[in-house]
Amino acid sequence: MKKFKVEKSRSTLWRESRSSNVSLQPEIDDYAENSVAVSELSDPLADFIPCEGFGDSNTDVGNHQRLDVGLGLSNTVHFTDGFDSLVVNDSSVGASPIGEDCCDSIVGWRWLDDDDDVDCEFEDNLVHDLAAWSLKNNISLSATTGLLSILKPCLPFLPKSAHTLRNSLRHTLHLIQDVNGGEYCHLGLSNGLTQLLRQNQTIPKQMELQINVDGIPLFKSSSISLWPILCLVKNMPVKVPFVIGMFCGKEKPGSASEFLATFVEEACILLKDGLTVDQQTVRVKMHSFVCDALARAFIKGIKSPSGYSSCEKCTVGLYGERYGNKVIFPSINSPLRTDESFDAMADEEHHIRACPLRPLPVGYVTQFGLDYMHLVCLGVMQRLILYWKGPVGPLEVRLGRKMIVDLSSRLLHLSQLVPVEFARRPRSIDEVLRWKATEFREFMLYSGVLVLRHILSDELYNHFMLLFVSMRILVSQQLSQQYCDYANELLVKFVSDAQVLYGNDILVYNVHCLIHLVNDVKHLGCLDDFSAFIFENKLGCLKKLVHKPQQPLQQILRRLHEEASLEVHASSCTLEEPTLMFEHHNGPMLQQFCDATQYKRVQTDAFSLSLTEGNNCVLINGCVPALIRNILKAKKGIVLLCVKFVSVQDAFAFPLPSSRLNIYFVRGVCTEIYPISLTSIAHKCVCWPVFSRHNLVVDDETFFVLPLLH
Ligand SMILES: [Zn+2]
Repeated sequence: MKKFKVEKSRSTLWRESRSSNVSLQPEIDDYAENSVAVSELSDPLADFIPCEGFGDSNTDVGNHQRLDVGLGLSNTVHFTDGFDSLVVNDSSVGASPIGEDCCDSIVGWRWLDDDDDVDCEFEDNLVHDLAAWSLKNNISLSATTGLLSILKPCLPFLPKSAHTLRNSLRHTLHLIQDVNGGEYCHLGLSNGLTQLLRQNQTIPKQMELQINVDGIPLFKSSSISLWPILCLVKNMPVKVPFVIGMFCGKEKPGSASEFLATFVEEACILLKDGLTVDQQTVRVKMHSFVCDALARAFIKGIKSPSGYSSCEKCTVGLYGERYGNKVIFPSINSPLRTDESFDAMADEEHHIRACPLRPLPVGYVTQFGLDYMHLVCLGVMQRLILYWKGPVGPLEVRLGRKMIVDLSSRLLHLSQLVPVEFARRPRSIDEVLRWKATEFREFMLYSGVLVLRHILSDELYNHFMLLFVSMRILVSQQLSQQYCDYANELLVKFVSDAQVLYGNDILVYNVHCLIHLVNDVKHLGCLDDFSAFIFENKLGCLKKLVHKPQQPLQQILRRLHEEASLEVHASSCTLEEPTLMFEHHNGPMLQQFCDATQYKRVQTDAFSLSLTEGNNCVLINGCVPALIRNILKAKKGIVLLCVKFVSVQDAFAFPLPSSRLNIYFVRGVCTEIYPISLTSIAHKCVCWPVFSRHNLVVDDETFFVLPLLH
């Protein structure tokens, strides 16, 4: 079978397919990312035309022709009618519609063999994969160019320069504007949403946006910081935020209004008119804003958390209360603020300027959730550990050195048995000032309840249990709906008792705001639905894109453009089907599954289960803890062969019997094996040894089981 193609070298075809039709002279000053790059400007292969901005359009010209402009990167016209496959590059023939008749008049065309086509495809794929690999692994442009120079003698179709390979943006000056205190680049909310829709198989009727604004320092040795405005679409499967705009300067933006103006203008239009893609209009709705307390104060134009009247949810501290050198918030029943009272700026003590986000139609109290990553993990949990460890806080609650050593030993013991879902293994208490937010989260929701037992006094331990239970309820999608009001009771008691146990010193903003968490959960979903964890990951990724101190904003801009042009998108990490790994023949087996294949690990969308300690405990029938002995691929699906425990008891009774949360002490393992369908497993559990008062571990048969909060 023959195919009709333009007679051009493969590398030329590839290069032209990546170029756009805008001609601009390279701006050397703007393009001084590295010396190799500048020298490549004289390379004929590097003489392609850069694409402009992040505009995205796709025009459907009927069933027979499709003009695929994509991100402004490809200007190739595809015809499928009358030929097996015809590809015409419009740099040769222009973009005007071409029918079958005009093909004969094109000079320089020839019939190609199937083998040529296969080779072309192979080369294109290799070039794309190499570019994507370089980008995904954050390989510098100069290193990638070095690799190309090594490969090129063997693979002459490769471009000479990494800029050409990755379709790097040559001009960035026109995308950056000066704003008060630094530079700002607006990539666009509608552009980001359009790209997201194009990645998605189906177009939803409505998109619910969650916005994050935060600042991160870019370098240890300078004060330059990056302030991205990020967006996550809550009701779509891709759970990776995209960048709406970025500010970069030596300090935070000098004017919040100026920094946010372009975003606010664009968001107002989208919220009113929706987004039209491929002649289909999708409604756009604001779900929430997720920021730390300082950023919230900055973008709302209110007092920062160290000031009087700074609580965003109630009017506590209206006339100020100071303890030592800090403002404290002792009241737990002050009148609540409302969206209406915020709009009317009813409390003059609360506002310091007109809200920079106005006239964005959102609830400035209800839709600005208190992010528990900053508030509770880095705030309350860290404060408690520092009080126990010292040297801050009252002496009466401080643990002795031996207790701290024991606590660290217990944590290090658990570090060998953590499930793969944990982002980090527990570290010593001595390193607490270097703990990340996720380590405080794991301590608060999982390990703390076990390792603090017999270390803290009963009073302090029970007080910690109020936080442990309430946070486990509020983090869980299911439990937060069932026990929301109960969690509120526990948190109010936690805050009241904190004053008695730890003194006024503890009644700072973070601890006070615990009493408002449940209201936010009622409006916005469980705590993980409006937490900054997902945005922190994105901020970390953006920071890694900066390889050197010069022009950091331009560097990030180029990398984001390369990602978009190469369609290197972070996946949502959702698995449609469970994946089985590591086949074996070691049993144990049941007679009815003698034809089944045995595996050591299975990965589902929610968790990874295996036959080894740390990852082999599940809840069967929704509430019975069990250990996995084998994983089978049977005719009717994936089956786990499980064994139950001889004894299952409540692990604690205060503030409620632990079995209500499916938390248990278990002892001894039964011999009878139960086949359980993988689809019926809702929860994986951690299964940790129990620590005794005097020795590290009670025995090798008694364990503490608590479900992962998926
Ligand atoms: Zn308050």
